[in-house]
Amino acid sequence: MQTKEAKLKRGMFQNVMKQFNAVADLIELNESIRKILEATNNEIVIHFPVKMDNGEVKVFTGYRVQHNNALGPYKGGLRYHETTDTDSVKALAMWMTWKTSLVGLPFGGAKGGIKLNPSNYSKEELERITRRFVFALGDNIGPEHDIPAPDVNTNSQMMAWISDTYMSTRTPSERSNYQHVVTGKPVGSGGLEGRDRATGYGVYLTIKYWTKNNNVSLKGKKFIVQGFGNVGYWTSHFLEKDGAILVGVQDAFGSIAYGKGIQVEKLQEYIQYNKGSIVNYPNAQSIQSDDFYALSCDICIPAALGNQITEENAYKIKAFLVAEGANGPTSVEGEQILLEKGIAVIPDILCNAGGVIASYFEWLQNKHGELWELEDVLVKLEKKLHKSFDKVVEVSRKRNVDMRTAAYIIAIERIEQSYLQRGIFP
Ligand code: GLU
Repeated sequence: MQTKEAKLKRGMFQNVMKQFNAVADLIELNESIRKILEATNNEIVIHFPVKMDNGEVKVFTGYRVQHNNALGPYKGGLRYHETTDTDSVKALAMWMTWKTSLVGLPFGGAKGGIKLNPSNYSKEELERITRRFVFALGDNIGPEHDIPAPDVNTNSQMMAWISDTYMSTRTPSERSNYQHVVTGKPVGSGGLEGRDRATGYGVYLTIKYWTKNNNVSLKGKKFIVQGFGNVGYWTSHFLEKDGAILVGVQDAFGSIAYGKGIQVEKLQEYIQYNKGSIVNYPNAQSIQSDDFYALSCDICIPAALGNQITEENAYKIKAFLVAEGANGPTSVEGEQILLEKGIAVIPDILCNAGGVIASYFEWLQNKHGELWELEDVLVKLEKKLHKSFDKVVEVSRKRNVDMRTAAYIIAIERIEQSYLQRGIFP
């Protein structure tokens, strides 16, 4: 199979390994630790039956890959997408390990999901699919063991079903101790104020830090966004508030552009009535998807799937900054082209880390039986992300490397140190 989809998935795993190996060589990573980090601890594949609305039974395939837990419980989202398989989830789980380590959380890395296109199922079917998957996962997840969260095509409603299903399998007296089995829940069901916008807010903040460091004002800067889901929307929302102008959007169904500016809230309103898609938005022009990355702009934000900026299109990009809202959107070859053109890249494990930072706060909130206020969440998130950003910039300057390499150095060295301190059992 040589389809675009197959290439995209294989590419993600190859990318994360290439990125890891390059940094492991550079820092002369301890050989034993290198062997451990190259492998994923557990790869769980589950086939489970679900009754459809018409009475027919379908068997779905769900995945959970637990890459590493040296720094704490496994942590990472669940995605519902047709491209979900062991290789893609392995890559995404590794990225989570580097991300939680980089931003100093007491978590390891995992990822999972179900191979399906959620738009083919009713809400009731999605509820049964989600609940049956959680039941089948059993104690492979747990509040002190492996904590899922939202990712591509999953949302707070699904997280509520996950916590409810997991808690229902415990005895009544201990149920409430298990609410932090999943993060990204709705506020009111243990969810954290601000978790909904946390990833996009973080993407925006890292862009703001970068522009500030480089004496660039965001006012009047043009940006394009690939993906107008949770991350794409919230990033655009905050950038527009600072005076930046959205000039192009691409989603799974099409691409639109308007040089004078697409109003973020109007587009968001439109997609609610258009099955979540930007297609045919009346206040912009439809463009060919191949022309999207060639749009004239200052900042380019891939906020959809992996392996989107590659050697096939990186040369077209006109922006001075690429901010990776998605996980793994840029291939190693694509990044090389960007860097040669003088385009800076804020790497995914830093750029989109606001989501998992807020997940950590939600986990703490549930664990301690607290309810945090929005203002406190945003202030704490900002502090953590700013510190991580400054560290990456510092290492990048000191070692004369790009920001991704610097981020990987910090992330991998923290895990290395933890293994060196405790040794390998027995
Ligand atoms: N799916 C998000 C990510 O890729 C969030 C993970 C989490 O909060 O655990 O970072």
